[in-house]
Amino acid sequence: NRRIVLAARPHGEPNESHFRLEESRVPTPGAGEVLLANRYLSLDPYMRGRMSAAKSYAEPVAIGDTMVGATVADVVASNNSDFLPGDTVVGFGGWQDFAISDGKGLRKLDPAVAPVTTALGVLGMPGMTAYTGLLTIGAPKPGETVVVAAAAGPVGSLVGQIAKRQGARAVGIAGGPEKCAYLRDTLGFDAALDHRADDFADVLAAACPDGIDVYFENVGGAVFDAVLPLLNPFARIPVCGLVSGYSATDLPPGPDRIPLLMRAVLSKRLTLRGFIVWDFADQEAAFLRDVGGWLKEGAIVHREDIVDGLENAPTAFAGLLKGRNFGKLLVRIS
Ligand code: NDP
Repeated sequence: NRRIVLAARPHGEPNESHFRLEESRVPTPGAGEVLLANRYLSLDPYMRGRMSAAKSYAEPVAIGDTMVGATVADVVASNNSDFLPGDTVVGFGGWQDFAISDGKGLRKLDPAVAPVTTALGVLGMPGMTAYTGLLTIGAPKPGETVVVAAAAGPVGSLVGQIAKRQGARAVGIAGGPEKCAYLRDTLGFDAALDHRADDFADVLAAACPDGIDVYFENVGGAVFDAVLPLLNPFARIPVCGLVSGYSATDLPPGPDRIPLLMRAVLSKRLTLRGFIVWDFADQEAAFLRDVGGWLKEGAIVHREDIVDGLENAPTAFAGLLKGRNFGKLLVRIS
């Protein structure tokens, strides 16, 4: 059993040196447990938080422990009457070949309904994040302008497509011309902009002539700075992620801009609401029904970026935080 453990806590950007590949015996399931052979591992930005000791909404991974992560896995041995060998499930198998589970949090997958990898992306946690955050907090109305960054990723790409289904205008922000062309030509965004452009703030203003009604916050930083002056009265901001700052070691330099932000919150009567997808766990069935249905009809598009080999997970993960992925980042383990 190969497993990747957290070797050291990064100060700044993570790299290969913060992980270590270890070998151990394949574990044996105890009473009520199943043995899982992981097939696909999901790499997600939240894992940067788990590498830090800083207090957050979830416990950090301890040094020397296996990195956590969602996986699609096959049940290879079972002492649990709910699962049979040969079942394919989605659960939290971690960065390793084999995992033991007591069955809690495992969901069986039917490959006839959708390819099993979708359970880690468009029909999994990232998809549900887009669906719940946009519809419950953003609540876009026909004709409104919705802006989202990291728009070529699993969360942002679905935010834009659901915004369009609601009759809103979707403006996507992504790194580089290839991702921007994908947003416009394949996903149907009304406009797509590169956040690395020197004149990004001007280009964003030009792409939002009627201002911004919903800003789905995935990245923070310079993108939020450009968005803030364009927000309309009563704009809604689901605060989903702040990936531009996950590896920051300090607050950014410059004047304290909290008063500017708070003045905008007050005068424009903004709603900023942070959320973690599991706050909306009661919407999971509705999410699977709606997004599963749209996917089946071919009404929405999703994209996966699959890296081969567990040993390549650390490099792929470091790249995710810098936009080297193009689509939902997965590692094929076996
Ligand atoms: P993505 O696959 O979209 O990967 C993250 C992307 O962020 C990169 O590909 C990169 O794309 C972009 N990015 C990185 N740095 C910057 C920057 N400085 N400025 C602008 N964009 C940047 O990830 P996900 O779709 O999985 O996640 C998107 C966001 O949603 C993350 O912030 C994540 O933490 C959050 N999230 C929150 C959840 C919740 O429950 N609240 C649940 C799931 C995800 P590019 O090339 O376009 O720059």
